[in-house]
Amino acid sequence: MLPKAFPWILSALLIGSLEALSSPDSMAQVIKSGPPSCPGIALTFDLCPVKKSPGYDQALVDYLIQHQIPATFFMSGKWIAKHDAEVEHLLGIQFFEIGTHGEVHAHLPMHNAEEQQKEIHAPVRLLSEHYAHDTTLFRPPYGEYNDTTIDVVKLLGLRFIQWSIESGDPDPSLTADQILTRIEKRAKPGSIVVLHANGKGKQTRAVIERLTTDVLPRKSLKPMTVSELLACKQRNP
Ligand SMILES: [Zn+2]
Repeated sequence: MLPKAFPWILSALLIGSLEALSSPDSMAQVIKSGPPSCPGIALTFDLCPVKKSPGYDQALVDYLIQHQIPATFFMSGKWIAKHDAEVEHLLGIQFFEIGTHGEVHAHLPMHNAEEQQKEIHAPVRLLSEHYAHDTTLFRPPYGEYNDTTIDVVKLLGLRFIQWSIESGDPDPSLTADQILTRIEKRAKPGSIVVLHANGKGKQTRAVIERLTTDVLPRKSLKPMTVSELLACKQRNP
């Protein structure tokens, strides 16, 4: 548990430390892929807030569970607040990993250190206090960040997870074939793919089915959670 004065301590630390941290050093903290020696790939699904319900791709999640496909979900605080049953369900699946994705899906670079800290920390605290689940993986909304974001993430003890492959799945103009081609062209050992599980990706379920039954086996790439991918070093696990 963090002491009650933690946000204030953190703010003081931030003010003191921001200038001390230079950007080339900080950039090393942003993880875009796993080790290239690992024959694995991480399928990650963002749960950004949505205005219209259900805001949850049940068919996609059912498919992942039915076929025991490891996956990592990045939940925003606003999404968690509207999806209590879904959060419990996802937390209960052994081969799923949960990370956070900001509280209100803010454009982080437009905010100061204290505001960024609130945006990043709120869903981490919610998962811990309300669901007794500690999360360490963080992905910034829109993939947007600046040096302050990197410093805040570091001070909160989180791991900063971006991606190496943008599937483009929320784009309604892309067909399943086009999304699949984008992923197939770039997929290699250690890749992290960003997709969505909030219902915005109309083709996501179809893409995942073809990816896991055809594309990835052909490339000898095994789906892993982000943590598994980052800890994986050997070929033929
Ligand atoms: Zn998002």
